[in-house]
Amino acid sequence: MGVTAISVWNNCLTFIKDNIQPQAFKTWFEPIKPVKLSDNALSIQVPSKFFYEWLEEHYVKLLKVALTKELGETAKLVYIIRMENTYGNKEPFTEKIPSSNRANMTPQEMDVPIKSKNPELKNPFVIPGIRNIKIESQLNPNYNFDNFLEGDSNRLARSAGMAVANKPGGTSFNPLLVFGGVGLGKTHLAHAIGVEIKDKYPERTVLYISAEKFTQQYIESVKKNTRNDFIHFYQLIDVLIIDDVQFLSGKSGTQDVFFHIFNHLHQNGKQVILTSDKAPVDMQDIEQRLLSRFKWGLSAELQNPDYETRISILKNKLYRDGVEMPDDIIDYVAKHIKSNIRELEGAIISLIAQSSFNKKEVTLELAQQVVEKFVKNTKREVSIDYIQKVVSDYFEMDVATLQSKTRKRHIVQARQLAMFFAKKFTKASLASIGSQIGKRDHATVLHACKTVDNLAETDKQFRKYIEDLTKKFS
Ligand code: ADP
Ligand code: MG
Repeated sequence: MGVTAISVWNNCLTFIKDNIQPQAFKTWFEPIKPVKLSDNALSIQVPSKFFYEWLEEHYVKLLKVALTKELGETAKLVYIIRMENTYGNKEPFTEKIPSSNRANMTPQEMDVPIKSKNPELKNPFVIPGIRNIKIESQLNPNYNFDNFLEGDSNRLARSAGMAVANKPGGTSFNPLLVFGGVGLGKTHLAHAIGVEIKDKYPERTVLYISAEKFTQQYIESVKKNTRNDFIHFYQLIDVLIIDDVQFLSGKSGTQDVFFHIFNHLHQNGKQVILTSDKAPVDMQDIEQRLLSRFKWGLSAELQNPDYETRISILKNKLYRDGVEMPDDIIDYVAKHIKSNIRELEGAIISLIAQSSFNKKEVTLELAQQVVEKFVKNTKREVSIDYIQKVVSDYFEMDVATLQSKTRKRHIVQARQLAMFFAKKFTKASLASIGSQIGKRDHATVLHACKTVDNLAETDKQFRKYIEDLTKKFS
């Protein structure tokens, strides 16, 4: 009869049971699962990191004796730790929703070089240099490609994401940087890429993390003197997804550590996916060397969804929730909420709620009320077109003049003010402001903003312009 992980472990347990208190045996040994036996190494799965530390501290000798009796002097023991899941809670499920047919993400196993300096790892027979742990991908399976609807506004980003998912690390889109304003689907797309990769390549280690959490972990590691472990851990990932990298701005320590991790991953053909609320050219307080890395791959923008896309997103949402709604209502919502998919979803959810809680028929009137409330409650963004119109009116010129190539001083000033207010009141990138105000480049816009700042300090008349115009916008 062959020796198996189970048979070896059962024999160990019999020996251990005879040598410790019954309560301790129940607490610390019964929950352990033998997993694998190969090369004279027994892998056992323990429920948590704490569990593993406790065993190492209190029972390492006993374990060694038991295992040596079974497998001889060369016996080794490998712990498999199930990391606790923090994210990825599945949403409550209601009857009518069609199943997305996706299981929760299962933990991924990987071998990690041992932290040699760590005094707790004094186990004399852990496989030299190797410890087996499991990593949660932190992916949300509800954010996938199936429910990331395609439209003109996201076609490039979506197909680049697909290409990366098909060949992680194997395209020139490395890193893939997805950027765009709030609520346009960056987080959704980032998860979708990761989820797709896990479907296609289950053996790859994928990790999703927000730049904010990454920063916290880094700070923690510095405090605990485990900065190197932090770096090593991230260097082992096959597909690293970092959401909202604009959060790293001004945080030079975290940028530095990310730079090293990035280089290592990139050199080893691993895939990096980033999202940001700004294009790389507009990112401020991010080190140049890091920015230049961002530009190695592809930057793809998620733009405001066009009307057709808004309609299909609304219809899809209703379909998934099992709710029917007349077309004119859907049309009304799509026409009035333009700039943000999260708000679009919010408005339709609140309509659904209104109609089901109050048992009210959804009428156009109700839709108007909900949308109005919604638009009022969420900060309204003035458009660049509107800003140009207001500034041109104020200086009594038409928009075409404001945009023209002329170097006449008062026109240049009007143009610079329009750029300044566009930067101040919209979330548009410098590049996008420039292209909308007379097809200028981002450097011109930056220069305009600086000039306006300077003149505001030194020129009383100019300050008056700024004050008058500011009043018009608020
Ligand atoms: P961001 O990270 O850019 O702020 P999110 O990814 O959180 O935006 O998206 C906001 C909401 O809009 C989410 O509920 C997301 O599922 C939805 N959404 C965004 N883009 C799409 C799309 N193309 N199709 C369907 N839903 C989308
Ligand atoms: Mg997001």
